[in-house]
Amino acid sequence: MTKQVLVTGATGRTGSLVLKKLRQQSDYFQAIGFARSQSKVEELFGSTEGFFIGDIKDKFSLESALKGCSALVILTSAVPKMKTPPSPGERPQFEYEPDATPETVDYNGQKNQIDAAKRAGVEHVVLVGSMGGTNPNHPLNQMGNGKILIWKRKAEQYLIDSGIDYTIVRAGGLLDLEGGVRQLLVGKNDTLLNNPPEGIPTSIPRADVAEVVVQALKQPDARNKAFDIISKPQDTPHAEVTSDFAALFRQTTSGI
Ligand code: NAP
Repeated sequence: MTKQVLVTGATGRTGSLVLKKLRQQSDYFQAIGFARSQSKVEELFGSTEGFFIGDIKDKFSLESALKGCSALVILTSAVPKMKTPPSPGERPQFEYEPDATPETVDYNGQKNQIDAAKRAGVEHVVLVGSMGGTNPNHPLNQMGNGKILIWKRKAEQYLIDSGIDYTIVRAGGLLDLEGGVRQLLVGKNDTLLNNPPEGIPTSIPRADVAEVVVQALKQPDARNKAFDIISKPQDTPHAEVTSDFAALFRQTTSGI
C-alpha cells in the first residue's frame, strides 16, 4: 500500500523538490502538495492536480488536505522582504509583511499544521528548519526583528511535545546546487555551525535536504530524531558521497 504524504510549502524551493522526488516513487508514496498560490502551482507543476490550495493560517484548509495522510512534511517558512534597495555602502534592511511574520508563519502556522495532523491521525511529521537556533543574537533573528530562529525552535518543541513521531531536519545555508554528490554531516544544537570540521562552509544543497526528507519518510532510524545537517563541498578529498541514509540517521538523537 502506498503512503499518503502531504507536503506544505510545496511551491517553495525545497518543498517543490520534495514533492517531485516523492512523485517519482509512486509505488511507495501518494504525494499531495499544499500551496497558497494556484498560479505558482500551475507554473511549477503544470496543473493543480494532486494539490490543495490553502493557507497554513487557516486550520480548516489544512484539515481537509490531511484527510487520509499518514505523514506530513512541513516546508513552509516566513520570508523577509528587502525594505528599499540600500544606498551605496549601506546594508540592506529587511521586514516582514504584518500577516507573514515568523511568529505567524513559523510558529502559529506550524502549530496549525501539527494540530491538524494530530486530528487527522497522521503518524509522522518531517519538519525542515534551520541551524542557528541556539543563538538568540543570530543575524537571522535580527532580520526585520522577526526572531525567526526562535519561533522555529518553539515550533520544533511543540512538535516533539505533540506525541506524533517526528523528524526535525535543521539545515545549514541552502544552496541551489546538484544533490547526491556530497558527503552529508549531521550534528546537534549548532555544534557544526560553531566548529565546522576542517573549517568547511556550513551549507547544503536544497536537493540533498529534499533527499533527506524522502529518506526520513522511509527509514525507521529517522523517527523521533532532531539534527543539524550540512555537507562537505563537492570533490573534498577523501569525502564519501552519502548513500546509506539509515546509517546517517543512526548518528542522530531524539529531543530538541
Ligand atoms: P522557500 O522557498 O522560502 O519556501 C517557503 C514556502 O512557504 C513557500 O512555498 C511559501 O509559499 C510557503 N508559505 C509561506 N507562508 C505561507 C502561508 N501562509 N500559507 C501557505 N504557504 C506559505 O523555502 P526554502 O528556501 O526552500 O527553505 C526551506 C526551509 O529551510 C525553510 O524553513 C527555511 O527557513 C529553512 N532554511 C533556509 C536556509 C537558507 O539558506 N535560505 C538555511 C537553512 C534553513 P509561496 O511559494 O506562495 O511563497
